[in-house]
Amino acid sequence: MKITRLETFHVKPRWLFLKISTDAGITGWGEPIVEGRARTVETAVHEMEAVLIGQNPLAIEDLWTRMYRGTFYRGGPVLTSAISGIDQALWDIKGKHFGVPVHELLGGPTRQRVRTYAHCGGETPEEFLERAAKLIEQGFDAFKTGLPGPIEPVPNHAYIDSVVEHVGAIRRGLPKHVDLGMDFHGKPTPAAAETIIAELDPLRLMFIEEPIQCENVPALARISMKAKTPIATGERIFTRWGFREILEQRAAAILQPDICHAGGITEVRKIAAMAEAYYALIAPHNPLGPISLAAGLAVAASIPNFLIQEQVSLGEGYLKEPFVIREGHIDLPTRPGLGIEIDEDYVQANLYDGAWDSPRWNNRDGSFTEW
Ligand SMILES: [Mg+2]
Repeated sequence: MKITRLETFHVKPRWLFLKISTDAGITGWGEPIVEGRARTVETAVHEMEAVLIGQNPLAIEDLWTRMYRGTFYRGGPVLTSAISGIDQALWDIKGKHFGVPVHELLGGPTRQRVRTYAHCGGETPEEFLERAAKLIEQGFDAFKTGLPGPIEPVPNHAYIDSVVEHVGAIRRGLPKHVDLGMDFHGKPTPAAAETIIAELDPLRLMFIEEPIQCENVPALARISMKAKTPIATGERIFTRWGFREILEQRAAAILQPDICHAGGITEVRKIAAMAEAYYALIAPHNPLGPISLAAGLAVAASIPNFLIQEQVSLGEGYLKEPFVIREGHIDLPTRPGLGIEIDEDYVQANLYDGAWDSPRWNNRDGSFTEW
């Protein structure tokens, strides 16, 4: 079997799908994307055709190594996201070739179903709890919400009190069996993050994600050491080399590699194995589409140190059979490969130009602040 063709599709709301074809008639799907840089990643994917066309798609480890190391300059979000989407599609092809779900090729199932959480928000606690009630009815039992922003470098009493009161009211309003995590989105300074986490620690949140940016690992390690709430990070960290120092410095209890950024299924499996040696858990980051979710499930289903899978879409429209939530979990796929069937007519009907970009925020004085 040989790889014959790579096709990319920018689809709404902001995703990039990749279809890899082979001369055996088997096709595989992946999501190679960096949010806000979809067109750049698309170019990187097509530049990698030189390494892929005419090659055996089953030799995933070798192709991964050639894509990663073969261009002399390695890593970074654009190149590793291109590799990630290609890697997902290659695993999809491999599973279909052997007639088994991908997790069967990765050591077999470590669980019968995969826990997942939904995003939830609201201007007021009442609005949040109203939306959460609908999601609980749909089957979810874990949520994540964001830290309001913009946040000043040293936030004042009014801001801190409003966060504590808002999140406290939400937590008290949720049933006790429902988990709540919070994403700080790397917005606060280290000083602000320490202050806010100390206030939120009594609420027993499931995790606090990206309390600060991840570029300075000792700074994150200091926050992690002081916090009682588990600290999570990883969506902006790439490959096992990127996660090495996070683990060595005990900078996070929960790693959130993104299967569309960190290096795909192949690489996140390795990151998970490294994490296991440090008693760290894996909660794959995924604000993207249904192929990303399917790839996350393949990893979750085959590692022992999995915590919970993020999702923002069960694939309605794009999948002929969207994922279903039951008791907070998604059942393991039973069909070969990633276990999903893409509706290509729906893809064609939902193409867009790939121009989605990140919001840009300012402080009160007009200076830049994190989104
Ligand atoms: Mg996040």
